[in-house]
Amino acid sequence: MLTLQSRDVALGCQATSWQDALDQAAAALHEGGLVEPGYRDALHAREAQGSTFLGSAIAIPHGTPAHREQIQRTGVRLLQFPAGVEWHDGNRVHLLVAIAASSDEHLDVLRQLTHVLDDEDVAERVATAESAEAMIALLSKPKVKARLDADTLCLRFPARDRFELALAAAARLRQADCVDSAFVAAITTQEPVELGHGLWLVSAAAGVRQPALSLATPERAFTGPRGAVNGVFCVAAQGEAHFELLTRLATLLDDERVETLADAGADDILARLSGESSHAETARVTLLNAHGLHARPAKLLVQAAREQSVAILVRLQEGAAETVSAASLTKVIGLGARRGQTLIFTAEGEGATPALAAMVAAVESGLGESVRPFDEGSGVARGQTLARQSRVTESAPPLDDDSALTATAASPGLAIAPVFVMRAPSFDYPERARDLPSARQGDAARQRERLIEARDEARVQLNTLIGRAKGGDVAEILSMHAEMLDDPELHEAAFEGMREGWSAEAAWWNAIDTAARAQEVLADRLLAERAADLRDVGRRVLGVLCGAKMPTPPAGPYILVTDDIGPSDVARLDTEQVRGLLTARGGATSHSAILARALGIPAVVGAGERVLALANDDQIILDGDLGRIIVRPSRERRDRAELRLKELEQLRREAYGLRFEEGRTGDGQRIEVAANLGNTAHAADAVENGAEGVGLLRTEFLFMAHPDVPDLQTQVAEYSRAFEALDGRPLVARTLDVGGDKPLPYWPVPAEDNPFLGLRGIRLALTRPEVLETQLRALLIAAGARPLRIMFPMVKDIDEYRQARAIVDRLQAEIGAGDVQVGVMIEIPSAALLAPSLAAEVDFFSIGTNDLTQYTLAIDRGHAELSSQADGLHPAVLRLIQMTVEAAHAHGRWVGICGELGSDPAAIPVLVGLGVDELSVSVRQVPMVKAHLRGITQETAKRHATTALSQPTSQAVRDALEAL
Ligand code: PEP
Ligand code: MG
Repeated sequence: MLTLQSRDVALGCQATSWQDALDQAAAALHEGGLVEPGYRDALHAREAQGSTFLGSAIAIPHGTPAHREQIQRTGVRLLQFPAGVEWHDGNRVHLLVAIAASSDEHLDVLRQLTHVLDDEDVAERVATAESAEAMIALLSKPKVKARLDADTLCLRFPARDRFELALAAAARLRQADCVDSAFVAAITTQEPVELGHGLWLVSAAAGVRQPALSLATPERAFTGPRGAVNGVFCVAAQGEAHFELLTRLATLLDDERVETLADAGADDILARLSGESSHAETARVTLLNAHGLHARPAKLLVQAAREQSVAILVRLQEGAAETVSAASLTKVIGLGARRGQTLIFTAEGEGATPALAAMVAAVESGLGESVRPFDEGSGVARGQTLARQSRVTESAPPLDDDSALTATAASPGLAIAPVFVMRAPSFDYPERARDLPSARQGDAARQRERLIEARDEARVQLNTLIGRAKGGDVAEILSMHAEMLDDPELHEAAFEGMREGWSAEAAWWNAIDTAARAQEVLADRLLAERAADLRDVGRRVLGVLCGAKMPTPPAGPYILVTDDIGPSDVARLDTEQVRGLLTARGGATSHSAILARALGIPAVVGAGERVLALANDDQIILDGDLGRIIVRPSRERRDRAELRLKELEQLRREAYGLRFEEGRTGDGQRIEVAANLGNTAHAADAVENGAEGVGLLRTEFLFMAHPDVPDLQTQVAEYSRAFEALDGRPLVARTLDVGGDKPLPYWPVPAEDNPFLGLRGIRLALTRPEVLETQLRALLIAAGARPLRIMFPMVKDIDEYRQARAIVDRLQAEIGAGDVQVGVMIEIPSAALLAPSLAAEVDFFSIGTNDLTQYTLAIDRGHAELSSQADGLHPAVLRLIQMTVEAAHAHGRWVGICGELGSDPAAIPVLVGLGVDELSVSVRQVPMVKAHLRGITQETAKRHATTALSQPTSQAVRDALEAL
């Protein structure tokens, strides 16, 4: 943004005429290195076309577009004329703001000027300013803009009462960065005030960064104990700056359509809040002027508005919903409209229709400037976004032969193969339907038909993939994609674009991109991943519409290298040929990484852009356990890796053959090997892979799969399915572990600065004990006499455990006691440190090493760059495990490990040496973990544990263990 500095200001100038003043302005611009001397003629030529007098003794001379090549760089110079200059239009000027603009940067200065023009006695103040600083301060008066736009609205939120809506509205303001958590906390203590018509209001001044108005509406209007609820407004109050928002709110309450607010969309609500009456007609037009709505085009727009027989109002579709008179130059400039933004004109009464058409025509004609329509080159612009990875490749330095590159280990295994670098196809299409190739051209109805056909084709593609996936996580994610395809809101948004003349391609991608951005601003990892899913679905349809050819992989085995592969791309992988997956971006928690694990494809992710510079057919060794690749390996290294691969495959075959043996060390120490599940439907698969039980059932996935808390019957049916498949083997069920970074849409939690340290796990569950009680009841009923182990997540001390246990005890007294044990997860360091007091009351511990590592090392487990350092073999984590096991065994309790560390081959002997009794790992790992156990004795395990505990860092632990 252009900011004024004292060297830009010349005080005490004198001029004999307005021409003389213009000459001085040109000289000042030239001296400042902003323009060529010939720019003087440009200023005069522009003034000859019409006065640049702005108001309040200020004129803004600038050149004509024809002289733009004489501008060296964008800037302004201020010339003060204390005695005044008689301007050619009869006004008196005390300040010239001379502009050299080759871009739209000066719009910010102009916009600031328009704020000043509203002030009283500004003419006198610019005439008498005594220093450059005083002048700048005068002109730079920041106007506190109240915020109200699509991003501050939170519509159709699944809330059950006014309080949840109030919190959702406050959280939205926080996400929009208008307020901080103090504001949200202040709102939680408030009783919403009734405004009438089912509308309610909360407001606070604490923690306000920018005054703003939010509105949260419910999914469906409902009636609460205090009356109808159609929506809750939330005001972030600051000084007087929010008063205009209250005025708008009052306008809306007077609107005859107020009762229908809960059903209204964002555009409609913003229109109503900006005072558009229900009788008003509107017209939209995209601004095409290269430098936005600067003074000259603004003046022509104002002239056009003044020529109409009815009053014309105008607002910007993007940003604050502030409606201004189109006949006011300062107000129109104050909108700060830029190329590509949409102006919405409104008018009412007889003559409104032709008046609006005239306004649209004026804007489309360029408002006195020659304008370039958007569709020129737009295909290239769009292609550029999607083909980003090809550009990256060109700039990335090549990787040396036989060099190693370490990144995030996302899925275990070893692969040696040539790479296939998949670059996303660039979709080239025009924005307007009329510019499509003739076979695809046609009106809105034809574009709509094309989109529907493409959607049907995309659905066929997805169904084929779902059929091939044969259930599991892959099928679930693809089914979610198929559902997204049918989202009526996406289609309606696309159809709206088509009605405005857009091509099906542009309208569809715009709808997808808008929806994806809306997800991303929620700043929550799971929802951000939904945005990636949305774009994935969007690209699939776009590919069909553009007839784009997907890149063809080689016929033989290969390692797929890509920027950040979409979930459906992973699902489409031919597991026969794809030996490994390497991505430039992404973390271990992305859907793509989860899918790679589910498909058993070794994967390394987040390796940086350099890997995109690999040439197709370059050989690499990919180690999904170590998160390492070797590029174009030397012959010796390759031979060694091939040998290891063969051994691994042999080992895997043997391990699978012995999968039903009990988990035991080579010298007979019993260590149970169980499976981690997210879905009870996979329990049979776990048994088939040799699992001796389920060591961790992540029940939150059941809750996430339902639009509301699943009722008792649903939960009983789910848990029974697992018990039946387990056929007498124990099931360790973790109670609902959501909140923080794992949100449940129907259980809103106010946005938190540190979700990992916030309301999650048992803390959250205890805020709604009735939900926890239903889950526990369902587990006890489903188990009957079968072995059920219940554990609570994120417990920090005995207090939380006692509260939760009390519910189990009460239910057991009611339902009857079965084979039930109750324990806690040890995943917060405080729980490990306090293990002796917990062990006195619990039946067992299960150590969640993923979170325990995160909290011990203070590294976000999903952090794209740091997560590879969040190594559970860190000696600090190992000491906490040691304390936990010692405390448990002192009280005769058993200890399991259910985090990822339990299947790490280097960690298995250490954990056994520390005395753990059970390892719970992902289903596919069960046979290999049993094989690793058979390969160690209690003595070697103890040695591994002692060695590891005495090391200072996790790397030192790994090195020392390898040397044993
Ligand atoms: C853990 O934290 O180690 C754990 C098993 O729980 P989750 O990964 O589900 O948080
Ligand atoms: Mg955990």
